[in-house]
Amino acid sequence: MTEKKATNKKNYNHKAQKKGRPVNKVNIILVFLIIISLVILGSLYFEFNSNDPEPEPEPPIPQNQPPFPLPTQRIINTHDHIDFMDMLEKWLSSQRQCNVSATIMVGSPNSTFWSQPKGPFTHYLENNELLLDMAQMTNGEIIAFPTINPNDENNLERLKDYLARGARGLNLWTGHHGVLEGSWGALSLYDWLGPLNRTDMYPIYEYCQKNRIPVIWSNNLGIWEIREYLWSILERFPDMIIKIPHFGICFQDYNLPFIEQFLDNYTGVYTCFSWGHPEFVMEKFENISTVRNEAISEFFEKYQDRIMFGTDIVPTINKRKTVEWMRKHTQVYKDVLENENYHVEILNFTPDGIDFIADYRGLNLSKDILEKVYYKNAIKFLSGLAWNEELNETIITRGDGEALKDAWENSDIHIEEKRIRKAYCVGNHWWEGGTTTVLI
Ligand SMILES: [Zn+2]
Repeated sequence: MTEKKATNKKNYNHKAQKKGRPVNKVNIILVFLIIISLVILGSLYFEFNSNDPEPEPEPPIPQNQPPFPLPTQRIINTHDHIDFMDMLEKWLSSQRQCNVSATIMVGSPNSTFWSQPKGPFTHYLENNELLLDMAQMTNGEIIAFPTINPNDENNLERLKDYLARGARGLNLWTGHHGVLEGSWGALSLYDWLGPLNRTDMYPIYEYCQKNRIPVIWSNNLGIWEIREYLWSILERFPDMIIKIPHFGICFQDYNLPFIEQFLDNYTGVYTCFSWGHPEFVMEKFENISTVRNEAISEFFEKYQDRIMFGTDIVPTINKRKTVEWMRKHTQVYKDVLENENYHVEILNFTPDGIDFIADYRGLNLSKDILEKVYYKNAIKFLSGLAWNEELNETIITRGDGEALKDAWENSDIHIEEKRIRKAYCVGNHWWEGGTTTVLI
């Protein structure tokens, strides 16, 4: 461009001299203006007509780049709670940005959304209705797992009604916290709901086992009473499909064997990598970066068919929970699983306004394990299958299988993918009203 400017100027001066006339001041100004105009026009011409632009430098590989590209980055988030219609769009936006294609929302009482101490078990019926509405509105991007209160009557009828209205499973609460008076969460849900191995709950377990209804059941397996109760239920209903979230609140050397005991003995037991409260997230991720890296890596290796992805962010209307905050909160769960090293920076992370800024060591899981954790295990769980059961034609032809079968046979999706997708869709009546709603 500089060269072109110079050439224009030189040509004009040559022309003026050749005519041999005196050059007055007005002419000089006019000539000058013409030169400027020509230079501008010349530059514009060059800008718009250049066929040979400077090659763009290759963009640097971003930090936290996943070790494999799409489409394996499909994720089912198997654990969160929501109680505000206003938060739905924000939640979906944060999840879509992280390649999360669906979230299981578990039916929850008021005390999940409001601060401690844990109060009575209230408002859960309203929350169930909200989740069913959201599941319908989002065409399954929200997956509803309503809850019941064991102290209510007609729970089986209620569960059947929820399932008929689009619920994909059942959420049960025992509670995460101590049952000891004076401990944090002394008024835990456990205290309000009582033991769940009571006989009047048996019809629920029976029904779920028989009909392959997946159950998410929050239990703190570190508490022996809760462990005993759950064990006695599984002895009686050994084929129930149950997810015990958060590794059963077991993470350290002294308590990880408790969740392992359940996973080793019952093929329908799953768990999820989600840690809830931001303080727990910071603590666990720091642990993984330092003293627990090998142990947790081994756990993932050993139980790679049983662990699912989850967040437990609890999107409330609290003003610090912006879309960006939720996106970053979800992303850090991916970063710890995918990377050898990662950087996290979430400002105002905890309710006390503490920032989460760190350079940590992650688990660097293999592609195979990540795919299982991200969605394959969730598809099995949602389809009501134990970890060692195959997704097969028997499952595929259940429910609205015929319409689905035709549509999928004619699609050009890879055959193995088709098999998984179909099983999931049909197992959960995913196709409704003839529309092609696909989870992944
Ligand atoms: Zn939770």
